[in-house]
Amino acid sequence: MAKHQFQTEANQILNLMIHSLYSNKEIFIRELVSNASDALDKLNMLVLTDEKYKEVTFSPRIDIVANKEAKTLTIKDSGIGMNEEDLMSHLGTIAKSGTKAFLENLTGDQKADSNLIGQFGVGFYACFMVADKVEVTTKKAGETQAFLWRSAGDGEFDIENTTMDGHGTTIVMHLKDDEDEFLESHRIETIIKKYSNHIPFAIFMDKEKFIPAVKDDDDKEIEPSRTDIENVQINRANALWTISKSEIKDDEYKDFYSSIAHSSEEPLTWMHNKAEGAIEYTTLFYIPSKAPMDMYRVDYQTGIKLYINRVFITDDEKELMPTYLRFLRGVIDSKDLPLNVSREILQSNAVMAKIKNSSVKKVLSELAKMSKKDAQKYEAFYAEFGNVLKEGLYSDMGNREKILELMKFNTINSEETVMIEDFIKNVDETKKEIYYITGKTSLSMLKNSPALERFKSRNIDVLVLNEEVDTIIFPMVTDYKEYKLVPVSDAKFEESEEEKKEEEEVAKTYEGLAKEFKDALGDMVKSVETTSDLTDSPVAIKIDKEDPSYMMAQMMKQMGQGGDVPAPAPILLINPKHELLIKLKDSADQNLINDAAHVLLDQAKLFDGQELSDTADFISRLNRIIAKAI
Ligand code: ADP
Ligand code: MG
Repeated sequence: MAKHQFQTEANQILNLMIHSLYSNKEIFIRELVSNASDALDKLNMLVLTDEKYKEVTFSPRIDIVANKEAKTLTIKDSGIGMNEEDLMSHLGTIAKSGTKAFLENLTGDQKADSNLIGQFGVGFYACFMVADKVEVTTKKAGETQAFLWRSAGDGEFDIENTTMDGHGTTIVMHLKDDEDEFLESHRIETIIKKYSNHIPFAIFMDKEKFIPAVKDDDDKEIEPSRTDIENVQINRANALWTISKSEIKDDEYKDFYSSIAHSSEEPLTWMHNKAEGAIEYTTLFYIPSKAPMDMYRVDYQTGIKLYINRVFITDDEKELMPTYLRFLRGVIDSKDLPLNVSREILQSNAVMAKIKNSSVKKVLSELAKMSKKDAQKYEAFYAEFGNVLKEGLYSDMGNREKILELMKFNTINSEETVMIEDFIKNVDETKKEIYYITGKTSLSMLKNSPALERFKSRNIDVLVLNEEVDTIIFPMVTDYKEYKLVPVSDAKFEESEEEKKEEEEVAKTYEGLAKEFKDALGDMVKSVETTSDLTDSPVAIKIDKEDPSYMMAQMMKQMGQGGDVPAPAPILLINPKHELLIKLKDSADQNLINDAAHVLLDQAKLFDGQELSDTADFISRLNRIIAKAI
């Protein structure tokens, strides 16, 4: 017998299971049954595709045995089984880096935390929530040596050789004193129906059956009533997605979700679709009601299982659906893929590509429908997944238009968000330009940006995009249908000859002040110019995009070296109609002009969402100005 230590993380998880996660213990059955089902899936595929497993018989079943005297609960499968190496690496360490995420995401709220267990690939350890000793007897299909793994969840486990008929895995849990409920057949059956009704394999269990007394014609008992023990199948074991929609009840869809998503929360919605024609396939996709914890991690766990003609192939293939739909949970099943697909083949397979393309289109069109028919549900969806979906705007050019139509936009003129199809109704039909502003500030701050004043004065609505992702994504989105998307800084409006002339004259009268400002600010600004674009704000800043240093900085950024390049100095725009500047123009107080130049530049930077380089300087200049005013 060899003693081993659990890996540190595994031990941490174990301790959590034993000491902190009490609220939803029953899910340990879901997790062990899910592992048994996975083990059957794996063997099924190997037997069908791998010469080495030709001799192995695949007779799938899962058995649950409750022994009230010994206080043990046993879950047994005829799946792939494990050899010594497998035991060491699967039931002693935690390979998935996602586990770290699990540990980071624990909230202390037990109900929420126990929901996370299944999502992070630590399901096996859940049996220690109810058992103080666990024995795993297992033999890998095609091998001869069986092994017994044992642990009391106290930091150690041991492995020794043993014997076993056939292949598969038997897990015996010695239940803790107050866990007798898990020995009751009706309790187990309820749990199975709730979480594992639609796994593709049959689960059997002994059940008590009441046989009524047999009576003769005179109502005299010939045989007394009795209770028989019968071994019966307790789940439906139908791959739910293969059944036709009309025969599936909502509750069954929900139950299936809980088994494949390892979640006790209800899904927000689902889409079940059977495609017939050149390529036959079925998809059943769920949208969770809450974003998976690892959604923004690179090593997120995919939620789509690929089946080929009901044979499970993989649930770890990120290419099955585009990353911007990574919140989906569900199944893709097709008859038209070769069973022995490798990952490489899968990625370049034309049939798979078609399934993927039409599945994406289907999901997007279902979302579009939801946005029109059920605004409340769509709102809930968008709050959780809108920003992920948005990634599709640059990663999926082919569907950009459809994805844009799913976005909810804030605009200058609307209190509520609007969809682009409604927004364009108010766009100037001759120019066909959709203006937008991006910035990493609050919505109200961005809506009040001086850069929007010239739009407000012309009563032109503008998309206001204040999420961080927007600043990265929208510069890449250049058009929608026949419309151009134009950042506000690039918008050009026609001016009449008269207006131009007037501006030139105004600029002349400000030449003196502009020069004084430039002298005061030095290299902090590229130039100081008057503008007719501002109404309420005295000043604004603008980057000259033709400036070679700006273009250089952009180039360096694209090459991933943006960090080292200083941003080029902005142009300071002054509003000649603003009272402040009118007064400054006529002031002879050089110190005041000097302080005002600095304070106004800082003010424009703040509005632009930038941080001040010298806050102390800003404050002392501001205080000097106030002191003068009093
Ligand atoms: P996950 O199922 O997400 O991988 P678990 O903690 O539930 O995480 O299981 C860990 C691993 O242990 C599984 O990936 C599998 O390799 C192995 N395992 C668990 N139960 C069984 C079983 N009944 N048969 C074969 N292998 C199993
Ligand atoms: Mg598992």
